[in-house]
Amino acid sequence: MQGVGFRPFVYRLADELRLAGSVCNDMQGASVQVEGAGEDVDIFIRRLQEDLPSLARISSLCVQSLPIAGENAFVIVDSSTDGAQDVEISPDAAICPECLKELTDLADRRFGYPFINCTDCGPRYSIIRSVPYDRPNTTMSAFRMCPVCQGEYDDPSDRRFHAQPNACPTCGPKVWMVDSRGGPLDGDAIELCRSMLADGKIVAVKGLGGFHLACRADDDYALARLRRSKARQAKPFALMVASLAVTESLVELSDVAADAMTDPAKPIVLLPARPDAWVSRLVAPHMRTLGVMLPYTPLHYLLLNGKFDALVMTSGNPSREPLSCENQEAITRLGDIADAFLLHDRDIHRRVDDSVVTVLSRTNSDGATVDVLMPIRRARGYVPAPIRVTDHADEPILALGGELKSTICILTGHSAVLSEHLGDLDNPQTYRHFLATIEQFKRILRVSPALAACDMHADYVATRHARQLGIPVVAVQHHHAHVVSCIADNGITGEVIGIACDGVGYGTDGGVWGCEVLRCDETDFTRVGHLRYFPLLGGDAAARQTWRPAAALLADAIGPGWPEAVGALAGMSDEACRLAQVRLAQPGKITRTSSLGRLFDAVACMLNLCDYNSYEGQAAMILEAHAGQVADVQPLEYTVTTGDDGEVELDVRPMIRQIADAVCHGESAARLARAFHLSVVGMLADAAIGTAKRTGLSRVVLSGGCFVNGLLVSGLTELLGDAGLETFTHRGVPTGDGGIALGQALTAAARHRKGLV
Ligand code: ZN
Ligand code: ZN
Ligand code: FE
Repeated sequence: MQGVGFRPFVYRLADELRLAGSVCNDMQGASVQVEGAGEDVDIFIRRLQEDLPSLARISSLCVQSLPIAGENAFVIVDSSTDGAQDVEISPDAAICPECLKELTDLADRRFGYPFINCTDCGPRYSIIRSVPYDRPNTTMSAFRMCPVCQGEYDDPSDRRFHAQPNACPTCGPKVWMVDSRGGPLDGDAIELCRSMLADGKIVAVKGLGGFHLACRADDDYALARLRRSKARQAKPFALMVASLAVTESLVELSDVAADAMTDPAKPIVLLPARPDAWVSRLVAPHMRTLGVMLPYTPLHYLLLNGKFDALVMTSGNPSREPLSCENQEAITRLGDIADAFLLHDRDIHRRVDDSVVTVLSRTNSDGATVDVLMPIRRARGYVPAPIRVTDHADEPILALGGELKSTICILTGHSAVLSEHLGDLDNPQTYRHFLATIEQFKRILRVSPALAACDMHADYVATRHARQLGIPVVAVQHHHAHVVSCIADNGITGEVIGIACDGVGYGTDGGVWGCEVLRCDETDFTRVGHLRYFPLLGGDAAARQTWRPAAALLADAIGPGWPEAVGALAGMSDEACRLAQVRLAQPGKITRTSSLGRLFDAVACMLNLCDYNSYEGQAAMILEAHAGQVADVQPLEYTVTTGDDGEVELDVRPMIRQIADAVCHGESAARLARAFHLSVVGMLADAAIGTAKRTGLSRVVLSGGCFVNGLLVSGLTELLGDAGLETFTHRGVPTGDGGIALGQALTAAARHRKGLV
């Protein structure tokens, strides 16, 4: 991988062992030639693998003997731009401990300098215009190094030897402040920014991969203004907290969570909020979790130095649009939201959002319960590190993903590069960003795809784009792609039982699927079970207004008398009831769905916990938060039968009747939410165990957006483990739609290998 200090490391090692030769980056990775005493060469090969720099990784090592060249020194050869593909670009990395020390050392020439970096840390992917990763190919080409910096850069024994973004206050990028219309503000920019934030102002801060909107996390007034002006009612905001100690005053911090927070990727980690967490309740309304991250650039450390312990740091974009990354563009787009801007002149070439992970507990096949990371949004710090996959592609494949939480994936050989989270493609600006990303990926990976993969939904813009590329297209069913992405994520291969649960995915029968039991491998699938179909009242509106799926499920469970039975369900208005009755009277005109996401919405509505999803998954998250408050609850009734289509049908009608009845009798929402979770777990486990008995398969793969739900994952892995089945959940790839491009790519590769394309 380029830009991780590998060549300088090799140089120092060779120098220490008095070996002659050379190291160079080329399009195939790094190639090293050494000559010297045999035992020294052996030590070199061993230490090459054992003493790697913190960001470097050797994915494969090939050693061969060469004739003696008679060199008497070791040199680093300039990057060559020709050669085959298979180059890797490093993700952006958070500031390292050494650089952080300099930042706070009054005697250091870089004291308080917001752009400190070295070979172990700093910007990479976000500043690369083209490969190889050398300064002229980055946005740092605009800055000429001063003699002192150049000296560091040229000195093999210096920790900034060949650090491409190397800079100092004399020669490097600078920060300054402007007001909401772009007019300059005098004074020390960092000091001014901190004072404004301390006073409750909203400041747009240019960071590593884009702009953040920042304000104090304990200021109700600032947060209310931010929510109103960003048109973001309820979706939780992420927090940047000064230290792990501060983090512990806000959330329950497990060891796994602390490791995730301090990883060079520095993601946002969703963790259970402490009851005495001192931030405004407007940070994450109705949630019992907080998304927290540590500062990851020197600039962030300077902002969080003393005046306040935590800042809300939310993406600098009007709702649903891509992140701003250019100074003037940001002032135009964010001027109505921010009171001021903290700008700098190191251009961002790739806009990269913060990554988001959550920590869940799951049962392993040995019966042990462990905390694991579940990726939700994979972006800064992880992209574009390739994912090594067990199966390979004969030809380069471009997978275009789905519609929401879009990502793309390029698969060459055993290496899959999954893009960062791009956003929802129904937004025109996001779609343009998606098209630009495809071109950028082809350029920096030097790939010309021979095969495209996309969703089966013909009307998705990504699907339409795939059809225009002029190369063969493989359409992959949404839930099959989910399961294959999880197969790849776990490095397994072959036939499995897949359970894919989410909100929306186009099914082969034209229905909207969302709770599917598949028997599948990378190539193909058979659907062996699903949630009993119910009418999807109102198409897309069904995903926002929770009364719609509630009415549909109640009508199915109770029959024609359902409106009377729901008199006590406060989440549903008379108006809604009447509308639903009219629509449900014409069942032939309504799409059918097996969506687990909509079932969660319906139950949240029936329990009067959430009548509107102002962001995806809101009702389900509120339901989970309530369920987490109680224990010792019995599951509700459900049946698992064989339906008309010969597939196993998971029938929740008994559950819906029980919930309606219990609500009318005043049962607590938390207890019902818990019972509902237990029942969904039981139902999915029964379906998987039944399938295992019929097929002899013993591996169960869980994928889809519903598996960010900690109660589902912990419950299901426990029950399946008790039944002797091995369960796989996501590890590095998002469980939601951000992962399906990877699954699509692998399915296309498998079909191509078998001559099916
Ligand atoms: Zn560093
Ligand atoms: Zn300098
Ligand atoms: Fe999905």
